[in-house]
Amino acid sequence: MTLNNNQNSIPENARSLNLMPAMFIGHGNPMFVLNPNRWTESWQEYALSFEKPKAILSISAHWFKKQSMITVSTSSELIYDFYGFPQELYEVKYPVSGSAWLEDRLQELLKNYNVSKTDSWGIDHGTWTVLKHMYPKADIPVTQLSVNYTLDIDQHLKIGNLLKVLRNEGVLILGSGNIVHNLRQASFDLGFDSPYDYTVTFDESVSNILLDRNFSALTEVLSLKEGKLSVPTLDHYLPLLYVVGASEPEDELTTICKGYDAGSLSMRSVSFSR
Ligand code: ZN
Repeated sequence: MTLNNNQNSIPENARSLNLMPAMFIGHGNPMFVLNPNRWTESWQEYALSFEKPKAILSISAHWFKKQSMITVSTSSELIYDFYGFPQELYEVKYPVSGSAWLEDRLQELLKNYNVSKTDSWGIDHGTWTVLKHMYPKADIPVTQLSVNYTLDIDQHLKIGNLLKVLRNEGVLILGSGNIVHNLRQASFDLGFDSPYDYTVTFDESVSNILLDRNFSALTEVLSLKEGKLSVPTLDHYLPLLYVVGASEPEDELTTICKGYDAGSLSMRSVSFSR
């Protein structure tokens, strides 16, 4: 696959969208930022298929808090929020700026959710390990919105719904997590193509729910046996709900990539766009 890294020029085959996509990326292992693979290549290829966003709103699994917060443009440094990885990973740079405009817009749109600005967080690895592949020049401002774990699942969908207007304003909505994410059972020796049965069952169930736009089932499926194994904690699942909430009935669902790592991680990445 030949990939064009020049983000300044819009490739000839890039679509001119009236609406920016709302996409969910299964980010997987942070080491993928140093070791490109079939998935990171898909993310990059997809990013080249539409116009460059004006700004990116990222909802990352790794900012899982008891309140709704947004990062501020004065503090958009990278957060190396992982332990025990090679030093090389802690030296990755992605010198992106924030967007004061987007921060104000978010506070306005989510005024009923008491969203506070904070300089206690920056751009975490759920965001930068993905965007480094998608937009290697780091020339698009990024703001993060925390995943507020005190909210019901329905409320995450509602927030996504309130955010969808941003797609008309040149903002790419990025949810970053993993549909199946059971680190306790992950065995990295298994490599990319040896998923556990429950991983496949749950991943495909969610894919079918998205295709059928039967979104209320995104909650119901969690109570199945496969759901409990695939989503032992909600942190990596909830970013998908924001993306779904920001979708429109007229959108097409694109599967950017799918597959598995370490037995219990789904790498499925999807986008709603038109
Ligand atoms: Zn993660």
